Amino acid sequence: MRIARFSVAGNVKYGVVDSGEAGAANGQSRGGLTVAEVDGHPFGPSAAEGVRLTGARYPLADVRLLAPVLPSKVVAIGRNYVDHVRELGNEPPAEPLIFLKPSTAVIGPGEAISRPDKLSQRVDYEGELAIVFGRLCRDVPAERVPEVIFGYTCANDVTARDLQFSDGQWTRAKGFDTFCPLGPWIETELDAADVLLTTAVNDEVKQNSRTSLLIHGIVTLVSYVTSVMTILPGDVLLTGTPGGIGPLVAGDSVSVTIEGIGTLTNPVVDASSL
Ligand code: MG
Repeated sequence: MRIARFSVAGNVKYGVVDSGEAGAANGQSRGGLTVAEVDGHPFGPSAAEGVRLTGARYPLADVRLLAPVLPSKVVAIGRNYVDHVRELGNEPPAEPLIFLKPSTAVIGPGEAISRPDKLSQRVDYEGELAIVFGRLCRDVPAERVPEVIFGYTCANDVTARDLQFSDGQWTRAKGFDTFCPLGPWIETELDAADVLLTTAVNDEVKQNSRTSLLIHGIVTLVSYVTSVMTILPGDVLLTGTPGGIGPLVAGDSVSVTIEGIGTLTNPVVDASSL
């Protein structure tokens, strides 16, 4: 099931994206896809029981997709694909390397990544698989990890690379507004153990890898992170980026595609031009 967050006629709602009858009948939906409105939101203790629908349905082309979740925090993993570790001259970490991105960095599909061009000369894309949590949890043992994962979406861990090196820690480099695009929706039925992940800039593929190459896999990451901090429903965990990172400039369009989920595309602008 694909769970989207969207706005229609000025109202923000959650919905289930599928090929429903309304879209097929009026012929104006994007690829025949429609959004069936969810009653309330899909997170929390009842997530495992499925979502309740209101009965309202919209052609996907008639709504604006938003970031599929508003997390209280975005936990991210550094240096978790060998080829990316090597390209930055680092060693693979024995334990997961975790950092935080502020919730205020989150944007949705189609929203512009704003390069802080007065502060940074080098802003990079990092395509990543994102885990979306459905439940409050702490100290999750490996065998219970599937219970707390609501689904998966695409993420771009946008990074001011020069500031990452010069600051010594990563809060500024990873934390600018717009530096965490998420979307286009949450896929709740994906087996994410071995799916293709690609990142393209202006349709040229720059990153091309598989989640089976994660140094620390999904189960390990969830157990590790929840041994440190309480996770709230809707929180997001970025699992790391593969090799092939590179810079973005104003006018670029960057797309992260994950097999079984979809494509997250964002334009790039310079903050000084806004
Ligand atoms: Mg990253």
